[in-house]
Amino acid sequence: MTDSNCVFCKIIKNEIPVKKYYEDDKFLAVFDIKPISPDHIVLMSKNHYTHTSDMPNSDWQEFILKAKELAETHLKEIEADGYNLLINEGEAAQSMVAHRPHCHIIFRKMDDGIKIDPR
Ligand SMILES: [Zn+2]
Repeated sequence: MTDSNCVFCKIIKNEIPVKKYYEDDKFLAVFDIKPISPDHIVLMSKNHYTHTSDMPNSDWQEFILKAKELAETHLKEIEADGYNLLINEGEAAQSMVAHRPHCHIIFRKMDDGIKIDPR
């Protein structure tokens, strides 16, 4: 299930070149083309869902566990000090690609100066 106008679906179909971090039958994780930190991965479902609420709960469970697994694995690989997991729904929440949910995994170093301010 893909959307021919969706940037993430094009990435999944290898129509847009990206640096991949992880791929299986259900999920793809790539390095963000506009990274917030030096290591910033975006995990996406291979199925296109326009809204977070469209994804079945069973897929949600796998999705969030995959985000945790990749975050913990890459944290050790690059010896980062921490990470942020961000899932945004809707343009009001600065989610500009309507392929949701997708999860930003943003790796952090102590005192890296990056401000992520969820308030
Ligand atoms: Zn899509």
